[in-house]
Amino acid sequence: MTPQPLLKLKSIPAQPRSATDLLRWPLIGAFLRWRHARRSLQTLLLFASGFIIFDGLFGPQQAPKNLATVTAWIHYRGFVVLALLLVGNLFCMACPFMLPREMGRWLGARLGWQQQVPRAWRNKWTALTLLVIFFITYEVFSLWASPWLTAWIIIAYFLTAVVVDTFFQGAAFCKYVCPLGQFNFFGSLSSPAEIKIRSADTCAACRTKDCIAGNKFTGQRGCELWLFQEKKVGNMDCTFCLDCVHACPHDNIGLMARIPTQELWSDPRRSGLGRFTQRWDLAALVVVLTFGAYLNAFAMISPVYVLRQNLANWFGLTSDIPGLLLIFLLGLTVIPAVVLAGTGFFSRLLAGPAGEPLGLVVRRFVYSLVPLGFGMWLAHYAFHFLTGALTIIPVIQAYLNDSGFHAGQPLWQLGPAVPLDWLFPIQAVFLYLGLFGTLVAAFQIAAGHYPNRHIALRAFLPWGIMALILLVAALWIMFQPMEMRGTIFVGL
Ligand code: SF4
Ligand code: SF4
Repeated sequence: MTPQPLLKLKSIPAQPRSATDLLRWPLIGAFLRWRHARRSLQTLLLFASGFIIFDGLFGPQQAPKNLATVTAWIHYRGFVVLALLLVGNLFCMACPFMLPREMGRWLGARLGWQQQVPRAWRNKWTALTLLVIFFITYEVFSLWASPWLTAWIIIAYFLTAVVVDTFFQGAAFCKYVCPLGQFNFFGSLSSPAEIKIRSADTCAACRTKDCIAGNKFTGQRGCELWLFQEKKVGNMDCTFCLDCVHACPHDNIGLMARIPTQELWSDPRRSGLGRFTQRWDLAALVVVLTFGAYLNAFAMISPVYVLRQNLANWFGLTSDIPGLLLIFLLGLTVIPAVVLAGTGFFSRLLAGPAGEPLGLVVRRFVYSLVPLGFGMWLAHYAFHFLTGALTIIPVIQAYLNDSGFHAGQPLWQLGPAVPLDWLFPIQAVFLYLGLFGTLVAAFQIAAGHYPNRHIALRAFLPWGIMALILLVAALWIMFQPMEMRGTIFVGL
């Protein structure tokens, strides 16, 4: 590695040291700063994915006994939301799809196939469509119950990542296609840490801007997702890849602790994204992931089966699938449109005669729903994780036994990680936290837009009431008997 010329470093101010910078922490910081940390994590998960796919295709086809269904639908989802709650987008950091993506990049560049993503596709609509398709197919085909289908979904994911990055430059797959990535970006808006510059003065004095342009001396690329550190705000679109950290020649980027949800309170122009209030696609992503959280949980409770059957009878059909599709159509489009338009209308009415377009009012406040939506995902995934966390032990035992190793008699009686009467209180805490985040964000948005506190309070009121109603709906859903998918244990 060629050292950088000293002259360039002389005028750069020294960075302040901060205990809230995770990259400065002993051990964990040292590991993350290690150039090969990310590749090591990705390789580990890639190998794990190989075993999961193999068991999904060739292993036992009962969901609670198969590595694919247990890891994908219980552990992966549980760990992802926990990481988002405690730190940030750690799954994208360790994403196993990155290595095939790199292969596609390399191949496309070598063969001259790569081109820029067309302007019309540089938004979240493709990923949003895939998310909706996933939510529906998850229920229609009972994906959680099929190791074989789960394995094929993972394979399809790998193939799509390779194909997209073979033909398109930058991190096209992560930024515009990957539904999991969008879920992580959404969740990380409420996370307590973000990749951020340590000193604005250092950036102002920096001439090379390697964090975006790439470091010529080390060959380290800059941010593939077009997030320029000096203008980057918050976690949207950040994969925590740390490319910028390694590219910056002045060691000016950290993984900083922050107040969770703070980035939702204002609407600055963000590098690589623009203003949130000008993006219908981002607003739609928030709507789908918030109301999708409700639908996803609603689809697993007892009343929904009665509703599906009633709808089938009403239509005079033998199948309850059309009823399910109707529930999704209403839940992801009609209900959010009516609720948000109504709330925005009253918010505008109470705030006074400014006469702003209703769409703008909705886009301003809709981001305040993120904490509650994330709280709902947390509460839901916590249920599955806490009721099935220990299932992984007998599943691995059985896998090893089938592979010729002697791992003892599988302990199929294992399942829940906590007593079952703890579940609802834990879920309720996540939902209350979500509500608190949403109320704070909605009020801060109102206060930031309306200088007069009384007007701000009036504009906030309908959004606060809507959040309370959503909380009641969430508590009602969590209070219903929920299917314990992917676990043998039947103690409820
Ligand atoms: S973060 Fe970017 S702009 Fe700031 S010092 Fe580093 S390379 Fe320069
Ligand atoms: S390079 Fe971009 S995506 Fe990666 S951590 Fe830095 S800002 Fe985030």
